[in-house]
Amino acid sequence: QAKSTDGQGYFLFDNQLGEKLQQKTLIARYLHSALENQEFVLHYQPQVHAATGAIAGLEALIRWNHPGKGLLLPGHFIAAVEEAGLMTQLTDWVIREVCRQLSAWKREGLEIPRTSVNISNSWFYNRNLLPMLRSILDEYGLTPDCLEFEITESTALLEEHYPLLQQMRDAGILVSIDDFGTKYSSLNYLKHFPVGKIKIDRAFIVGIGQSSIDEAIIQSITFVASQLGYDLIAEGVESEHQVDFLVAHGCKYMQGFLFYRPLPAEEIRPMLSSLAYKAGKAPLQQCGSA
Ligand code: C2E
Ligand code: MG
Ligand code: MG
Ligand code: MG
Repeated sequence: QAKSTDGQGYFLFDNQLGEKLQQKTLIARYLHSALENQEFVLHYQPQVHAATGAIAGLEALIRWNHPGKGLLLPGHFIAAVEEAGLMTQLTDWVIREVCRQLSAWKREGLEIPRTSVNISNSWFYNRNLLPMLRSILDEYGLTPDCLEFEITESTALLEEHYPLLQQMRDAGILVSIDDFGTKYSSLNYLKHFPVGKIKIDRAFIVGIGQSSIDEAIIQSITFVASQLGYDLIAEGVESEHQVDFLVAHGCKYMQGFLFYRPLPAEEIRPMLSSLAYKAGKAPLQQCGSA
């Protein structure tokens, strides 16, 4: 969220897009109507087992199909959504939309991959989350292992969330740590609730072959993950060289442009009939255990 130079209004988009909205209330109204008009859309990026190319899961990534500006990436609006207090509502929408899509594919007889949703810290507060999740899953005829929640380290560090995270895990929803290694050096939270998997942040992956520090950090992450028995996935994988390094260090699961970009549901659909995947038996189980 960039503030305008006069310190009064806000830029909803970056300066190059040149669009300024004067007041937070205006932004909120704008986002509200975007939600109502169904201008948000999910793209899905496959997560793959590098050795076989099998799809092991999907990550849902939000885009704003803006009437005037085309498809906007989250970097252009997520901060404004948060600022406007609409993140919880948007996350609810994402979860429901993922469930709707998975159940539509399921009804077509396709194998549905476990799909992860990015969950912001604010979503956890003041709500009856588990009953809400159960009722959405029931409504769409899905089991909890179809869903995975990606939380960041800053959320994982908040002890007040542990009972709920534990309950989610008990209910069968995987909870993973996104952007691992970027925020806090504390690993203490790994003791407090069962983590589904650890996603090594792209910031380290870009350093493979470039930075011995990044390579050392990746090696320590893969070591910790294998010692603790956590599944591991690398994000932002763009080259064969990165794949080779990661595989050599025991990370078998990957997500990145080398394999697939985030794609609209229609482009994911043809991949699902040939999935080497069964919901609930994710091959991610083997990750990091080399
Ligand atoms: P993230 O959860 O770490 O998602 C991965 C981001 O890396 C995505 O960007 C994806 O398109 C991008 N990416 C994947 N592979 C590669 C690659 O090989 N190279 C490069 N350069 N990038 C790659 P995207 O879709 O722009 O999303 C950015 C961030 O916005 C996400 O980071 C996540 O934190 C947030 N976000 C996305 N969707 C949602 C959502 O539904 N709710 C919330 N709260 N946040 C979301
Ligand atoms: Mg993510
Ligand atoms: Mg990530
Ligand atoms: Mg990231």
